[in-house]
Amino acid sequence: RKRQAPSQTEKQFIRYYYVTKAANNSEILQMTVEFRLVFSIDCLTLICQTGILQTVTTQLLIRIRFEESLFITFFAPAMSSGGNGGSSNNNLTTLQIPPTTTVSSQPQSSTWSKPGDVSFTQGISNSSEPTKPSETKTESTSSVQSFTSLFPSKISIQIDQMLNHLQEFQNIADASGGTRATGTQGFNATLDYITTYLTQNTNFKVDKRFLKVNAFRVLGSPKLILFINNAQTNFIYGFHFYAMTHSSSANFSSPVRLIKVPNFGCSDADWLAVSSPPANGSVALVQRGNCTFEEKSLLATKYNVAGLLLYNGGTPPDRLEPFQAAVSENSIYPALTLSYQAGMTLVKATSNPSANASVLINFDVQYQSLIGVNNICADTPGGNPKTTIIIGSHSDSVQEGPGINDNGSGSAANLVLAVNLARLFRTSEYKEYPNRVRFCWWAAEEGKEVGSKDYVKKAKNSTIIGERLQDVLVNLNFDMLGSPNYKFGIYDYRTTTYTTGASALPGSKRLSELFRDWFINQELPWSWTDLDARSDYVPFLAEGIAVGGLFGGAERQKTKDEHDCYAEVLGQGQGGIVHTSYDPCYHQACDTIENINTFAYQRMVQAAAYTLEYLGKQKDLKTWLYSSPQTKEFES
Ligand SMILES: [Zn+2]
Repeated sequence: RKRQAPSQTEKQFIRYYYVTKAANNSEILQMTVEFRLVFSIDCLTLICQTGILQTVTTQLLIRIRFEESLFITFFAPAMSSGGNGGSSNNNLTTLQIPPTTTVSSQPQSSTWSKPGDVSFTQGISNSSEPTKPSETKTESTSSVQSFTSLFPSKISIQIDQMLNHLQEFQNIADASGGTRATGTQGFNATLDYITTYLTQNTNFKVDKRFLKVNAFRVLGSPKLILFINNAQTNFIYGFHFYAMTHSSSANFSSPVRLIKVPNFGCSDADWLAVSSPPANGSVALVQRGNCTFEEKSLLATKYNVAGLLLYNGGTPPDRLEPFQAAVSENSIYPALTLSYQAGMTLVKATSNPSANASVLINFDVQYQSLIGVNNICADTPGGNPKTTIIIGSHSDSVQEGPGINDNGSGSAANLVLAVNLARLFRTSEYKEYPNRVRFCWWAAEEGKEVGSKDYVKKAKNSTIIGERLQDVLVNLNFDMLGSPNYKFGIYDYRTTTYTTGASALPGSKRLSELFRDWFINQELPWSWTDLDARSDYVPFLAEGIAVGGLFGGAERQKTKDEHDCYAEVLGQGQGGIVHTSYDPCYHQACDTIENINTFAYQRMVQAAAYTLEYLGKQKDLKTWLYSSPQTKEFES
């Protein structure tokens, strides 16, 4: 049955379709598809022809209905304007295609199928002869076929190119105490490698941009002891708790009263609700969640605590361990993160006033000024510097390991993209882009995106054309592209937060869709991943610059649904491991070259290449990214 399209979205009418559940609940159900459409929700993709009445099985319908519930959550504002809630209790269930460009209605895709156009993603790297598009693209009058032919099966970005770089990063780490963390010998060698490789293999302008980094270090073995009246409980550093970055030192000579801040400690009301004793002068116990660590820590400063203990919430299952996090810079109180178990022990202690719960905290921290810390950026020689595309990935690892997935994978991807692009520009068939591309390797991401933030801060103050923030139209971020139990994670513009500059939204939306359409066209599964402020896009997004990118997953776990989706698309046995982290070696010594899923990694970099080329070739990139009205409703 046809649903009346809201008048303002008349053009999107083809994006609606309907599933009618058989009244008798029989096994056979009917799906009517009107017009041709390409429909995908997460990994499920249906490509249907005009007017075909398809009979689908109960199993398929169940999946559609399941996906639909996610979908309605995501797109509730758009649904409400149509006046149909799509309730799954109705026999007639309406699904709305995401309010996006389906590929069939995307005029931009024509830039891909121009005859004689050499493609960035098409056979240039390993041979001096670029593959001619006519060799791989099939001309066809069928809309479905012409749609798939935009993506040639022969693609030049090959895994060996990236693995060569990863092996170099591994060698560097092996020779440098197993790490490439900012300020270490391994980090400096990484920067040297990147700089030398770019200088030798491209004609790009390569720049080392110094930045001042004060490294935060925790010294010795921190102590946290709980006193309930006279009984003591000792917690173990690294198992029950961590010191937070920017914590002060703690030298308690006697136990200090412990208080629990209700809810999540995200508002003044939460903190004022603590009365006897008040937060002032006490150690505050606060549950993780609902607002940023920064916000919690600023409230802790405001209420003059003697210490802040942030405990993990227990659910989902990745919220059991103590975690790495930072309080606001130069906090004047000690701050720790706690495991869920340790948190519960302390919560229980505070729930009984006669227990007089108090804690003793002792440890020292140190700030050490690091030398030789640089962002590296390499610019294409052509392209308008006033319409710059920044392709970013961080060059540092954590102290604990060599960081081959996090983020050797992104760093190597960036190198491969830069060098392949430089080669393409040297061929006569491939024109320089109208937009300048600036490839950047950010330092000190693991210290709260220090390098990318430094870049944005300096750009804000610059008056040099090409260096100003207004010259940056978009930031693509690639961080962790080869996770072993991967997802094809695409940054989801809908998960931007209140700190996002509103102007970033239309472009970020288009980028989410652009990546998604590539995975659909490659017949690959894919997942949305949150812009949860965990990588170098943060400062760009905050300034209202459109961002997009890919993320293969870190410590969080693959769900059964995601596994099943991936297995359905890729084949049985190819869905990964359920209830296991996307990267079980995240931030650990085992994040070595063995930790890379080469299949996923290659595809991720190919998706990156596609997006880079698409943006690079846009004649009016600014309009493409910034012309649409704001599309996201913010929750109050
Ligand atoms: Zn990373």
